[in-house]
Amino acid sequence: MAVRGNSIIKGIEIEEVIKLLNKAYADEWLAYYQYYIESKVIKGIMKDAAITELDQHATDELRHADMISGRILQLGGIPLLNPKDWFTHTNCGYEAPSNFDVVGILEDAIKGEQCAISTYSDLAELTKDKDIVTYDIVSQILADEVEHEEDLQALHDDITEFVESIKNR
Ligand code: FE
Ligand code: FE
Ligand code: MG
Repeated sequence: MAVRGNSIIKGIEIEEVIKLLNKAYADEWLAYYQYYIESKVIKGIMKDAAITELDQHATDELRHADMISGRILQLGGIPLLNPKDWFTHTNCGYEAPSNFDVVGILEDAIKGEQCAISTYSDLAELTKDKDIVTYDIVSQILADEVEHEEDLQALHDDITEFVESIKNR
């Protein structure tokens, strides 16, 4: 992969940053599709509240993919060109919805967000004080992923408490 100009920014290899950004890029597309399809097939109690959240998150993940591909290009790299590459580069994988139940889907999504938080924390640590532009981008994304995880957890807790309250009636 051709890298223009200096291949090192303050002690970090640009090639390495591009490689890690492409892994995050794969994660974002898979996260986008996971939210997209979960929102279509989800079933069960309070599913409308869950659909609103899943759709918002799908939109955010696609925006993250856009932020990352922009930065890869600025660094002289090429974003993954083939969707097949998403599966070989992903950090967080893809969890196809299995039983379509609201609680199960929220649990899968929470796991995905926890993985995203760890990916972007590592990228922020690597680029801090070295590649300021990438640091700024991954920090913005990290803040979104933290919010995603909190929103899903709150919804998950509301639904499980509601189900318990019905059982105990
Ligand atoms: Fe994301
Ligand atoms: Fe997210
Ligand atoms: Mg949200």
